[in-house]
Amino acid sequence: MSETMRAAFVKAPFQVQLREVPIPEVKPGWILVKVEACGICGTDLHTLRSASDWSPLGHEIVGVATKVGAGVRSVREGDKVALESGSFCHTCAACRDGRVDLCNTGPNYWSNPTLGFAEYILAPEEGAVVFDGLEWEQAVLVEPMGVALDMVYTADIRPGHDVLVVGMGPIGLMAVALVRRVGAGRVYAAHSRRGRRMEAAKAMGADEVFCTQEWPISCFPYRKRRVAGGAPREHVVDRALVTAPPRVIPETLQVLNYGGILSFIGIDWGEGQKITIPADDFHFNKAQLRASFASPALYFPTCLQMLRDGWIASDLVISHVMPLERLEEAFILLRDDSANTLKVVIKP
Ligand SMILES: [Zn+2]
Ligand SMILES: [Zn+2]
Repeated sequence: MSETMRAAFVKAPFQVQLREVPIPEVKPGWILVKVEACGICGTDLHTLRSASDWSPLGHEIVGVATKVGAGVRSVREGDKVALESGSFCHTCAACRDGRVDLCNTGPNYWSNPTLGFAEYILAPEEGAVVFDGLEWEQAVLVEPMGVALDMVYTADIRPGHDVLVVGMGPIGLMAVALVRRVGAGRVYAAHSRRGRRMEAAKAMGADEVFCTQEWPISCFPYRKRRVAGGAPREHVVDRALVTAPPRVIPETLQVLNYGGILSFIGIDWGEGQKITIPADDFHFNKAQLRASFASPALYFPTCLQMLRDGWIASDLVISHVMPLERLEEAFILLRDDSANTLKVVIKP
């Protein structure tokens, strides 16, 4: 008889079931990982709202490799690993052309019967990044931190740029800390509601924090600046990072400086995904609108090192650590008190 483990399954609306299921059998090229921590991602809540069948969930996973399959060379039993939520394949045209970031045929664990909200998960060797020197509650941030870093890279932020970050979820907050560290001039943070998220933005290094319910972005006192030379500093937005509803994009473009770049991430906005922007302004302002999509998961080695070096104060990003038994409560907390709930980490 095979050994069993607890694994969570979810279904709309906001239902969670814990089941005893067999521990997966390790197979060649794959690793059995004992999950030590798994973070809740904003996209998990979409599944809680939309899944018509019971579905496994959880993709911000760190743990210990407890069994390695035949042929695995880069991971040994007992290694601490962070699991990429998707890897790349090495053989498609994009990979061969050196654009592994455009690969969508890489190995991943998404078709497993259970995912990260479980005691164990089976993962392909390619997606397991061995690390050391971090607590589980720090390392578990590596996957969403890669998302934040991709936003920063996508917006091509350079030293001295004044940056507006819209949406103070964990990704927006980590983006604030990253742009601060890469030498942004001024960092403005905007969020829709007052509470813990706005306070955390200040602590992460934002110079000014705005509540968009009180001050819509289009009303911000930003000035476009063609010539900076010697003029006193005004509120300028050279770069904008948006992790907020798409309707924020048109108003953020309005306040973006000439030649500015806006990078956006966000999915499953339904009807709200449709936006209209005035093409003349877009043209004459030489604005750029770019999509950030950190899939396959990239930058784990860089982010793990940044976490070790203290770039991100994990205690500011993580608001709750809860056991697997309280997963349903954790989802409801994120649904009902999102202004005061940040990253929730589940420890199976
Ligand atoms: Zn995610
Ligand atoms: Zn590929």
